[in-house]
Formats: sequence, structure tokens, C-alpha cells
Amino acid sequence: MPFRNVIGHRKLVALLSRSIARETLPPSLILSGPAGVGKRLAALSVAQTLNCLAPIRRPRSDRGDEVPEVDACGTCAACTRIARGVHPDVLFLEPNDKGNIKIEFVREVIDRSGYRPFEGRRRVTIIDQADALERSAQNALLKVLEEPPSASSFLLVTPSPDLLLPTVRSRCPQLRFRPLAVAEVAQALIARGQSESEARAVAALADGSIGRALDASAETIVEARDVALRVLVQAAASDDVRRRMDCAKELVVKGAGAASSERDQLAVYLRAMSILLRDIGALAASADRSLLANPDLTQALERLSAFGGERGRLAFLAVDRALAALDRYTNAKLVADWLVLQL
Ligand SMILES: [Zn+2]
Repeated sequence: MPFRNVIGHRKLVALLSRSIARETLPPSLILSGPAGVGKRLAALSVAQTLNCLAPIRRPRSDRGDEVPEVDACGTCAACTRIARGVHPDVLFLEPNDKGNIKIEFVREVIDRSGYRPFEGRRRVTIIDQADALERSAQNALLKVLEEPPSASSFLLVTPSPDLLLPTVRSRCPQLRFRPLAVAEVAQALIARGQSESEARAVAALADGSIGRALDASAETIVEARDVALRVLVQAAASDDVRRRMDCAKELVVKGAGAASSERDQLAVYLRAMSILLRDIGALAASADRSLLANPDLTQALERLSAFGGERGRLAFLAVDRALAALDRYTNAKLVADWLVLQL
């Protein structure tokens, strides 16, 4: 996965590439940001570009600010071995099945990082889900972060940098990866062979995460749109509080397991609702239909013109507030009950 194949994050990728080209890459970095946006792949690109046997350098003339100055070829022996996780100089650490990274593994990595690279130019240690490092493991790691061996790089990948010790954080400059744009997620899905319309519907629901989009099956998406659509149709048809509270029950799937999965499921429905509301707004404003996330639902959406103007805008904001409340672990039923009364 060379830099040029990383989807989105052009500025961050250009920055990483430039610092490799100019040999100013900090010995340790935190790559933070939501799950599934490409942090780990970017770390892999760094390892490849540092060790590639035939790196591609771009002449200054055809370089924009966001084009990588140097990139891995992606096909040499070093690049392919790094991608397969079997290059002797590129080490991966990730949580065990109990979800933590033990100090023993960190000690081993630290020992190995003291040696010169075996084959490559630079030894790279990628710690995925670095927030899973036990406290003692972080303290052990701190010693190498304070005095990094020459020719060694440490890349700490995490969605939750705040869970790292402040001492570790202060040693590692942080690159913040943002959620991807819907079009970028769709592009990744199309590249993996999904049809364009399906890719767009899935991407719209994935909240900027390719990982989440790949996890979501087409049925999940279709079901989420159906539920969200039914709730909007009910809300448009009746102001009756009891009927609306009945709708809320559709949004909270009981018996689905832990409270967290209730919240996750509701969030999926709400994201679907928010996209439907955006499409209804676009139809009301006679926007280009090719811009709709759900072009196959055009007829149903046209019948919801009640949400075409101010009411739709307020509903959209209410859905946003509901999603934010779920992020703060508010009870799913409370959120659903509140929301249906705002529509
Ligand atoms: Zn290569």
C-alpha cells in the first residue's frame, strides 16, 4: 500500500512523504483518528517508503503540495514482504485476544530496535491500537521514545490517543486523521468491486470510515434505510404523541445484546435518517438528482416533501444532536423517544 493508494488524507500523506524525502521524519509518531479511516495503512506506507528497494521520486516540476515527494514502488521484495508482515525490519505489535499489549512484547521490540536493520534502511515498529499498551508497557516504551536508537522509527496507531500516558504523548508528535468524505469511502468500495449505487448508499452510512463501510453488509444498509424511512413517514403523517412514541420502538432494537449495541444500532438508523433528510432537502431544492445518496428511493422521498423546508432542516439538526448524545453514552431509548417528538 504505497502512499499514492491511501484514500483521502492528502495533506497528511504529503507531509509524511516529504519528511521521509528530506530525512526529517520524527523517530516516533502518533497516528490518531477514528477507526477504519486508513491510519494503519498510512503507517504501512511509511514503512514501505523507508525501506523500498526502488522508491519513486517525483521531480520537483510535477509536484503539487499534496503529491508525495517520494513513494514506495509497492512491488519490490521489500514492499511485498512489508505488506505481508514478514519483513525482518518492520515489526507489528497489536493487542492479544484479551485486548491488551503486554510488557513482554514491548521489551522484545525494544531489544530488537537497538540493532541495525537487517535488510532495510530503517527499522520500523508499528504499534496498532497503541492505547491497548499496558501502563508498564508504556513506561518501558517511554525509555526508547526518549532516546530512540538511530535508524529506528516508532509509529503508534490509535483511535484514542488520550488513553496513552501523557509522558508518551509528549514524546510523539501527533498526526490527526479525520473521517473521510462520503465520496472517498465510496471510491474505496468501488475499487473493491461494489457497484456505484450500492457503494454510495453504504458510504453515506459509514460515517467517514472505510472499515465501517466494509463491515456493513448491503442488507444492513437497506434495513436501516427502511426503518428510517418508515419513521419519517409516520412523523409526517401524524402529530399524535402516542403514535410517535410507537415509532421510537422501531428505532431501538431490544434484545440485540449489550446496551452499547442498542446504541450502535440506533446510530446506524439515525445516520440513515440524516441522509434521507438531506436527500429530501436536495429534491425540494431541485438539486441535481445524480447527487442523491439514495436515487432509488426518489419517489418515496418526494412524498416526504413535508420535510423539504425548515422542518427538514430542524429534523436534520435534531438527528445530529441525537447522534452526539449517543456518543456520550446516553441511553438509546431516551434518545429515540426524544427524537421522534422533534421530527
Ligand atoms: Zn518497493
